[in-house]
Amino acid sequence: MKQFAGIVVDITHESVDRLFEYRIPDSLLPDIREGSCVYVPFGKANKLIKGYVISISDTSEYPADKLKEIHSIVPKASGMEVDTIALAAFIKKRYGSTMIAALKTVIPVKQKVAAIIKKTIVRKCSEQEAYDYSELFDNKHQPAKARIMRELAEHESLPYELVIQKLHVSPPSLKSLESAGIITLLSDRTYRQTVKSRTEDGGRKLSPSQHSIVDEVSNSVIEGKPVNALIHGITGAGKTEVYLGITRKLVEAGKQVIMLIPEIALTYQTVMRFYSRFGDRVSVVNSRMSQGERFDQYEKARQGLIDVMIGPRSALFTPFKNIGAIIIDEEHESSYKSENMPRYHAREVAFEIASRHGGCVVLGSATPSLESYYLAQKGSLKLYKLKERLTGGTLPEVSIVDLREEMKSGNKSIFSNLLKEKMMEKLLAGEQMMLFLNRRGIAGFVSCRACGHVIKCEHCDVSMSQHRNGLLMCHYCGATKPMVNVCPECGSKYIAGFKAGTQQVEDAIHKLIPQARVLRMDADTTKNKDSYDEILSRFSEGEADILVGTQMIVKGHDFPNVTLVGILAADLSLNASDYRAGERTFDLLTQAAGRAGRGEKKGEVIIQTYQPENYAITYAAKQDYEAFYDEEIAYREFMLYPPAAHLLCVRIQSSNDEEAKRIAEKCRDMMKSTCVRDKIISIGPSPAGISKVKDVFRYVLYYKCVEYDKLIQIKDVLENEEHSFPKGVLIDYDFDPLNT
Ligand code: ADP
Ligand code: ZN
Ligand code: ZN
Repeated sequence: MKQFAGIVVDITHESVDRLFEYRIPDSLLPDIREGSCVYVPFGKANKLIKGYVISISDTSEYPADKLKEIHSIVPKASGMEVDTIALAAFIKKRYGSTMIAALKTVIPVKQKVAAIIKKTIVRKCSEQEAYDYSELFDNKHQPAKARIMRELAEHESLPYELVIQKLHVSPPSLKSLESAGIITLLSDRTYRQTVKSRTEDGGRKLSPSQHSIVDEVSNSVIEGKPVNALIHGITGAGKTEVYLGITRKLVEAGKQVIMLIPEIALTYQTVMRFYSRFGDRVSVVNSRMSQGERFDQYEKARQGLIDVMIGPRSALFTPFKNIGAIIIDEEHESSYKSENMPRYHAREVAFEIASRHGGCVVLGSATPSLESYYLAQKGSLKLYKLKERLTGGTLPEVSIVDLREEMKSGNKSIFSNLLKEKMMEKLLAGEQMMLFLNRRGIAGFVSCRACGHVIKCEHCDVSMSQHRNGLLMCHYCGATKPMVNVCPECGSKYIAGFKAGTQQVEDAIHKLIPQARVLRMDADTTKNKDSYDEILSRFSEGEADILVGTQMIVKGHDFPNVTLVGILAADLSLNASDYRAGERTFDLLTQAAGRAGRGEKKGEVIIQTYQPENYAITYAAKQDYEAFYDEEIAYREFMLYPPAAHLLCVRIQSSNDEEAKRIAEKCRDMMKSTCVRDKIISIGPSPAGISKVKDVFRYVLYYKCVEYDKLIQIKDVLENEEHSFPKGVLIDYDFDPLNT
């Protein structure tokens, strides 16, 4: 009998770990659950206070007769705390975790820190003079100073941190501008007293299609019938302008707006656009802030001092009182899903939060996730399309190079003849290029360089990987095959695991074109937290001709001088051994192609691949999302992969290989009859894609079912059994996983 409850009496981040134990009286047993708001006697005087049930168990650390009893359930509890608890309970239920972990996710971190003095940079000259200075500094080859003066010409004042972090102007440069009397640095307090009202930029005149999206979406909320929307439009089609319009209307109606942006795209320009419209009614959080700084921003929201919060995934939990909209830009990005338990998806939680507030969710992307487009097709999201690029600049010209042909003609280098030719051409023209190796995780797949054939699992239709024991293995179902020496399709002996890295690409460029200046960006060169921004700004200042990198280089910054983008091996993501490989390839190729030709000169894109006929590649080259979606959703429907069905991945980990395997098998056996009864497909167990990390062995079990709730039941049963597993065995639940 589950008759003991762990209760928190005050929900702040630190107090969540301090649970008080109470006994649940029989009369309340049927009604108490995790998240219930209850009255409990507290302290020496047994004063009745409110508390929240965080855990329920059938054992107690203390003798039962020493425990106090829960007094009663609070009738019709309401308020911010109840909302927070209810949200945590929702997350726990839907994704699996302890209530404490769920609460820590939804409650902003609290930690005392010394107040940080924020500074603002204010221009002390006229707009025209600022432009003149920027030219002057350009001529003197002082690009950083030129950059800040150009910005200051457009905005009279700028936040100090934004300038340092995102505009890459160093404190000494600012000091020297200050001593020259061109700018002043003011602390935030003096700043507020000096500058009464910031000149607000009222926004552009919207195009008719932008206008109707803004009106329909914001009116739906104001009229109390919120409609969730998906805006499908290429970069430059005017989505951000729509977000700004919706935000303005909802803020004017007394509501607040949360704007989620992937960390990597949280650039100076984006933040500045919000800042110049909403002044200090907007706050930004990012992962570089200390916990205390982040808490300060959330506190401003709680106190009603701001209306708009911009930030990555965690900004979702900004404690606003009356949320009008949660906007998610680049909604297809994988960073919107948490990598730790509870593995929640920001998009799904946004639907939940918005509906509790009577607000709406607005999603935007050039390459919507299959999930969102599927919802739009089913009518539960309203789909809007923005087709034209408003900034001018033509779409790039895309060529697909068949690497099998290169091989036949005797070219075994990383670069096809076409790519070599174009690289030379651009170098001579003084233009820049980006070479992109879309490598992620382990590239364990085996493919034929002569015909492009890839060894796949017959049951799961995903690539098999080379395994520790030398066998080829499917990481969904565990099926194995011996490694092959000749291609089963064409008989070629050029069949092997695919190997390539950014370092090798850099070396190959040095050999091919010794005079080319190269910058490389990958996990190795960006270990330091500022190096990512630093490499990008060095490239944008023209310090290199070629930027070589992994998928990191395709997002964020605009480089008007880049006229060539080369994708060295589209196969690397296409053959990743999981069901989202096609979708990810399409996204990466579309985004990479979008990097070329942002300026006045036309851009060119070269995609190298062994599978030129693959639909993810051909449709990306044509920038045809709808056609890609139709093929991809057919595959998901046929194989019952999300979003056509739901997939629960249960990972079992232990430093003891045998034990991890035994528990994985035990879990499978335990669920057997449920799976038969509820028509749930059970797959595995098998060693995980990365089967051993830091000496911890990992096994996976997959459950597929059209109904999400049935998978929740599986999770619930296993969660309940966890206490009976040996210590050191960790179980992790991942619903509709992004990486498998
Ligand atoms: P996205 O977010 O889809 O990439 P943006 O909203 O950033 O698109 O718009 C791209 C560019 O077009 C920006 O420079 C923006 O200022 C400009 N723009 C957007 N809407 C309009 C408009 N209605 N009239 C003129 N320019 C616009
Ligand atoms: Zn072959
Ligand atoms: Zn399989």
